[in-house]
Amino acid sequence: AGALVLSGCSSSDRGGDSDKTSDAKGFAQDSVIGVALPQKTSENWVLAQNLFEDGLKSAGYKPIVQFANSGVSEQQNQIQAMVEKGAKVIVVGAIDGSQLGNQLKAAADQGVKVIAYDRLLLNTDAVDIYEAFDNFKVGELQGQALLDGLKARKGGGPYNIELISGSPDDANSKPFFEGAMSVLNPKIKDGTLKVVSGQTTQQQTATQGWKPENAQNRMDTILSANYKDKDLDGVLSPNDTLARAALTSAKQAGKPVPVITGQDSEVESVKSIMAGVQYSTIYKDTRELVKASIDAVNAYQKGDEPTVTDTKSYNNGVKVVPANLLKPIIVTKDNAAEVYANDSTLAPLTK
Ligand code: BGC
Repeated sequence: AGALVLSGCSSSDRGGDSDKTSDAKGFAQDSVIGVALPQKTSENWVLAQNLFEDGLKSAGYKPIVQFANSGVSEQQNQIQAMVEKGAKVIVVGAIDGSQLGNQLKAAADQGVKVIAYDRLLLNTDAVDIYEAFDNFKVGELQGQALLDGLKARKGGGPYNIELISGSPDDANSKPFFEGAMSVLNPKIKDGTLKVVSGQTTQQQTATQGWKPENAQNRMDTILSANYKDKDLDGVLSPNDTLARAALTSAKQAGKPVPVITGQDSEVESVKSIMAGVQYSTIYKDTRELVKASIDAVNAYQKGDEPTVTDTKSYNNGVKVVPANLLKPIIVTKDNAAEVYANDSTLAPLTK
């Protein structure tokens, strides 16, 4: 594993807080808190890095915030090292939520609290809470946006569409896809939507590693095999990075711009939406999710229980993980200015 990035190690400006372990279950407020992030597959992860570093530091903790750019074994090593450094809470945005069982067990055995951040941790009981936006809802909103966009831009159906799903190792890819298909399947059945390639399962539509080149290659192949004499009217894309890859593919194939969904409100995609190209995205305010996660850390620090909104939906194979779910918001050109009004990066793009 790479060198640990330690920051905020000085507690000298914090008076005597470091002696203040409020009760037997809590821990000192200048404790080490680990944040294990996946690869930088979308902008939200980069935003999260800075927000965790700043937010944890200003709360008095010593954060260790790391990406695992080279993959699962790097993330395993990082989590293990965080336990060895005495972390009291480890926040995990997993690359593959089913591959961290041993490291999380080692953490739990030391009394470390584990927060699954954005992506669920699977097949382990060593996870205390899931902090995320409602992933199934994200998919539903995407499916509905695709239908709305097709109607608005292309008039009456039937419509030729293709489907893209996320990386199969990411636990979110399933609820994203199933949420969307819960809206699209009835329209596929009644003939309004035609998936011309015939690729309609999560497996057939998967994008390994969330890599744009994988989505683009798959779309290139589909377009040349199935769309010689047809237009591609719409594409379900699970996020903005893959939406832009699919748009590039359509453009290179000389096709008109399809109605396409996205997620994450990435700068390039918000610009594209305002220019009338990409149809929709999802706003999941990373500031809110990081804040909710740091609130959970603070609760554990005091020996309290964090806020939970859902105690039923997230069975990880071993236990139902209590979840604190935030609401995703669908964004199109029509409501972008309103939705992003309080986001100083995105609001100017809507002017
Ligand atoms: C996140 C998405 C993101 C994707 C790729 C998912 O787990 O929820 O917001 O687009 O990972 O980074």
